[in-house]
Amino acid sequence: MAGGRTTGLILLPDQALHDTGDHPENGRRIPAVLDHLYRAPEWSELAVIESRQAEPDDILRVHGQGHLELIESRAAAGPGWIDGDTPISPGSYEVALKAAGAAMAGVDSMLGDPGSGPDSLFALIRPPGHHATPDRAMGFCLFNNAAVAARYAQHRHGVDRVAILDWDVHHGNGTQDAFWEDPSVLVISMHQWPLYPGTGWLAETGAGEGEGLTVNLPMPPGCGDREYLEAMGAVVEPALEAFDPGLLIVSAGQDGHFADPLSNEAITATGYNRMADRAASLAGRLGIGLIAVHEGGYNLATLPRLDRAILAGFGSYATDLDEGATGLPGGQGFDPGWDDRLREILKAQRPYWPLG
Ligand SMILES: [Zn+2]
Repeated sequence: MAGGRTTGLILLPDQALHDTGDHPENGRRIPAVLDHLYRAPEWSELAVIESRQAEPDDILRVHGQGHLELIESRAAAGPGWIDGDTPISPGSYEVALKAAGAAMAGVDSMLGDPGSGPDSLFALIRPPGHHATPDRAMGFCLFNNAAVAARYAQHRHGVDRVAILDWDVHHGNGTQDAFWEDPSVLVISMHQWPLYPGTGWLAETGAGEGEGLTVNLPMPPGCGDREYLEAMGAVVEPALEAFDPGLLIVSAGQDGHFADPLSNEAITATGYNRMADRAASLAGRLGIGLIAVHEGGYNLATLPRLDRAILAGFGSYATDLDEGATGLPGGQGFDPGWDDRLREILKAQRPYWPLG
């Protein structure tokens, strides 16, 4: 590992028991990723940490009692839908607890025994979490894994400030809601806008004591590597450095890839590799741990390469960033209107952060 950083995986047993059939967010996603990673030359260098199961009290640091009981009872009632996007099955409650528990196991590894674990961890979990609000499951998400991990880090390990960087192509509305008025958790979301769920405009900056601690970067359709990396350099990295968190959690959704069926962005494997490298480098400069929790990514032909590209960025592995036989990104030579949007974002954020 050329850069000297180490990374690893947190694996989720029994993930297929969250049985969503042919839904885009299905039980074939994570096995496809793992099958690809097993064959990668750097596999033997990856630390592998087993998940554990979150307790109801861990979930209740973010979600209401009614929400917890709804997920448990709806799962027990048999296969069905929480809303028009969000399926549930008899195993979903247990798998959702284990997904949140995997993120918590990552927190323990980062904060529990300094020097014993890798510099970063990527939790290969599902269901995703960033759309789940304190009292509502939506957008394929049941419990908000990143938010539960952030609260656990504060509760169990006494971390004062946690930062969550969400690069899933959809706005992390659930995470935003969980910490809207909370000055101890910085929530930054880069996402295509407009797109599901419709929130995440740049004027949404938090409220009360949390005013300024929600940072939204609504990226126009057609944005790719150049725009996302510029957004990181211009806003994300300066804000994270100024906030000086004790832990960085990345909500890692790779559905902004050009071949993903659920977005119109044009990010490549190289782009995800560079974003991961930049996030890990920043965590290194701040002297803090990094935990990535898997969110979206719905093209089974490309998702495994993207997740590997992220691990390569975290761990400084030289790797083959072959896009596979999926063609070239759309949007090349097309001006998505990013330069104007970036000026608007900077104007909205300058009252809160030392931006150039
Ligand atoms: Zn998404």
